[in-house]
Amino acid sequence: MKYISTRGATAHKSFSEVLLMGLAPDGGLMLPEAYPQIDAATLEKWRGLNYPELAFEIISLFATDIPAADLRDIINRTYTAEAFGNAEITPVRTLSDGLKIQALSNGPTLAFKDMAMQFLGNAFEYVLAKESRELNILGATSGDTGSAAEYALRGKKGINVFMLSPEGRMSAFQRAQMFSLQDENIHNIAVKGMFDDCQDIVKAVQNDAAFKEKYHIGTVNSINWGRIVAQVVYYFAGYFKTTQSNSEKVSFCVPSGNFGNICAGHIARQMGLPVGRLIVATNENDVLDEFFKTGAYRPRSADHTHVTSSPSMDISKASNFERFVFDLIGRNSSGIQVLWAEVGAGKGFDLSFLLDKVHQQYGFVSGKSLHADRLKTIRQVYGQDGELIDPHTADGVKVAREVRQNGETVVCLETALAAKFESTIREAVGNVAVPRPAALQGLENLPQRVRVLPNNAEIVKEFISETLEK
Ligand SMILES: *Cc1c(COP(=O)(O)O)cnc(C)c1O
Repeated sequence: MKYISTRGATAHKSFSEVLLMGLAPDGGLMLPEAYPQIDAATLEKWRGLNYPELAFEIISLFATDIPAADLRDIINRTYTAEAFGNAEITPVRTLSDGLKIQALSNGPTLAFKDMAMQFLGNAFEYVLAKESRELNILGATSGDTGSAAEYALRGKKGINVFMLSPEGRMSAFQRAQMFSLQDENIHNIAVKGMFDDCQDIVKAVQNDAAFKEKYHIGTVNSINWGRIVAQVVYYFAGYFKTTQSNSEKVSFCVPSGNFGNICAGHIARQMGLPVGRLIVATNENDVLDEFFKTGAYRPRSADHTHVTSSPSMDISKASNFERFVFDLIGRNSSGIQVLWAEVGAGKGFDLSFLLDKVHQQYGFVSGKSLHADRLKTIRQVYGQDGELIDPHTADGVKVAREVRQNGETVVCLETALAAKFESTIREAVGNVAVPRPAALQGLENLPQRVRVLPNNAEIVKEFISETLEK
């Protein structure tokens, strides 16, 4: 399988090549030339598979340049009961009102990003070893992404991670999660500044081509194709767990920010998985809800991004959205160039003439959930089902209940565990004990390893080069 860029000006690439890529050189996002089509007989055969077997069948359709035995090994080492808390990997449960919840949040950092990042860590290590290459990941995080990357890449050969975070701005739990890692290849850097300052430093380093080249600097952000492809798997797994036969349809409701998670749902649907609707749930940052209701995409600037109690959805420019629009407009690269030139100029675009197609052909609908909705939903689920859901999942549950139709099976993706967001949980339900997986008891008491640096790209570069030259 060959990969192309949404902007049409990048030479075709193999899976191993796109795996290590961020943005395409033409500014676009990489996608397969065509989505593999799953026929009824294959779908029937897959129904009986366990998670790693299913992951192998699906990923092997995309990773055609990795020998089957190697890919199987990477996947078997990734989706284990030890890493994901149980052998089912993404178990599905049913709330008392019939809504299904698929748990994607039982990985090492208790958020759905582990589902893809754990695969990426092993796949990176494999490709780098094969090509005798090294990679030094530089990233900025305000919480979830950084920890998922560190837990995926800790101890991996040929890889170092330099993760910038704003000093004193993450929760005690998030700090403990990242800074307690003692692996030699993980380097936490607390910057005396805000999250945006951390991002600016990453950009400054990326823009220094000589430095980037000399020190093999790379990233793992949400546009990485390897992450999307690993996420396709759990839509199939969720479908099989909630149906008896392949004549049934299932809708998925997805708490969304960068559109990475639900983009994988779109791809699963395009491959032929009988998905009914794809329900996009946003928080106060409703750029996607606006698009799916009106057809107008109007990304907001960073200073118009609300800081909310579902922080991993605080995004006003959905980086993976370009992949869906590419399909929507008939895979027309020049069209994408025109539309994203408007986005780049701070304007956005209007595709209201395609809104019927968005709803009918692609199955997308949306809704939004505000702080008060989130608290109310957490409280309701706690009252009715005796369980605590995290604020992001609560946004999904709120929207799913709102748009669900009679007879429609809706699976809401659980994107984090409540344990990560204790203060919002307490705000919703009062002073209850928020359950935490046994492995994370006492996390905050472990010794921490972090380097505090000033808000200065040159000093961060010095730290990187000194560390790598030691
Ligand atoms: C990253 C994240 C999201 C948003 O996912 P996207 O792929 O960016 O749409 C939702 N919930 C949680 C807990 C997350 O960490």
